[in-house]
Amino acid sequence: MSLKLYNTLSRNIQQFEPLNEGRVGMYVCGPTVYGHAHLGHAKSYVSFDVLARYLRYIGYAVTYVQNITDVGHLTDDADEGEDKLINQAKKEFKHPMAVAEAYTASYFEDMDAMGCVRPDISPRATGHIPEQIELVRKLMEKGYAYQAGGSVYFDVSRFDRYGKLSGRNVEDMQAGARVDVSKDKKHPADFALWKKAEANHIMQWNSPWGMGYPGWHLECSAMSMKYLGKTIDIHGGGIENQFPHHECEIAQSEAANGVQFVRFWVHHNMVTVNGQKMGKSLNNFITLKQLFKEGHELLSRKYDPLAVRQLILQSHYRSPIDFSDDAIAAAQSGYDRISQAVVAIRKNIAGAADGDADEGIVTELNGLKDKFEQAMNDDLNTAVALSIVFELVKLSGRVLGKDGNSAGTLRAIDDMFSRLGGDVLGIVKDEYVQAAGGGAGGEDELPGQLVGILIEQRKEARARKDFAAGDAIRDRLAELGVVLEDKPGGATTWRRK
Ligand code: ZN
Repeated sequence: MSLKLYNTLSRNIQQFEPLNEGRVGMYVCGPTVYGHAHLGHAKSYVSFDVLARYLRYIGYAVTYVQNITDVGHLTDDADEGEDKLINQAKKEFKHPMAVAEAYTASYFEDMDAMGCVRPDISPRATGHIPEQIELVRKLMEKGYAYQAGGSVYFDVSRFDRYGKLSGRNVEDMQAGARVDVSKDKKHPADFALWKKAEANHIMQWNSPWGMGYPGWHLECSAMSMKYLGKTIDIHGGGIENQFPHHECEIAQSEAANGVQFVRFWVHHNMVTVNGQKMGKSLNNFITLKQLFKEGHELLSRKYDPLAVRQLILQSHYRSPIDFSDDAIAAAQSGYDRISQAVVAIRKNIAGAADGDADEGIVTELNGLKDKFEQAMNDDLNTAVALSIVFELVKLSGRVLGKDGNSAGTLRAIDDMFSRLGGDVLGIVKDEYVQAAGGGAGGEDELPGQLVGILIEQRKEARARKDFAAGDAIRDRLAELGVVLEDKPGGATTWRRK
């Protein structure tokens, strides 16, 4: 298998090879937790979830690190202005850490619903202040940073590769400076590593340069180095973060360590809503909670989180997505077709006669698997990969249209759905077996669907640590002769006693 990925650094599609054979270190810029996750987050984290899943599918041991920004992400990503998190804390009359805690939980709830496998490590910026101070100290020692007015700035004139990722030159950056340039900086393009805090600034720490707080860019350099080493295989993020954020990360990390920071820079494109850039002032800012649970005036209904995932996978990660009610409705019906096909196959397995898989079907399945892998190897072409899952849907319909299928044949189809649609794309769930009435093959699907709802309720109760409610659901079902079984992967199946 040979995966090719577009590398923003070389502006080419390149053969992917990690630094250490068989192992991949991947870092993705995580959310700033001052509000609920929205469609832009969905595009980002679903795209990188599929990348991590596919790397694992082709045999790599992946360490996936995605930070949580809970300090220092300033207004407009510039060095001046108020911290977004502190602004939100003032609005909610809460401590900034309470705001960060609540929105971190909200973020994971939405990502779990969309089937994103949790990162191996989710480091918080506030939990890594000593590491960030140490990095600033190292940069000062090496002459790449200077102290001015209680803050510390990176001196871009000392780092001649500054601008190589985004293709900008320092003169452009100077001309394009959006906010008043601090008088303390030697050069307008210099960026803050450490900011002096005023006495009333809520979040501040002691440092060799006095009380202050880290600049936003710094945390990603410090935390990726701590958990993945000086050179990482893949760094992911949105194209809007190429400059200044990723450019600054490269400058800090490479100046401090003297080695290449990132081998593959992978950037996903953005989301528009009804053809317009998403923005709170345009009233087209849709959170995932509104999409899944609460509704929004631009939407005709609420949608399945996995249908949103499917919509994202229908286009390439490097292409923009235009989100509209029609587009998501179409993705929902596509998603329903896939899940219904999987349920139909699983329902029929129990009633089918024992026997090996039909050879012709196995050959067809392997052909589809090859095409699927070819598409994924081609810079993660999920749109084509998804079309292969629809080929599987057609094949299932054809097979179920005739009598006398062996359990082996149906299992082979189910297995391919689980591997391609489940393990890699994350849109086929293990739990469908519940909705299929425990494989009983009954005419009426309603009891199975009802048990499915209760299993979801129990899962949610356990997620919020309400184990009493979770146990009560299991016990009451047991009284009715329905046994729940928790599988190692986190899925729950059921059977009749
Ligand atoms: Zn970052």
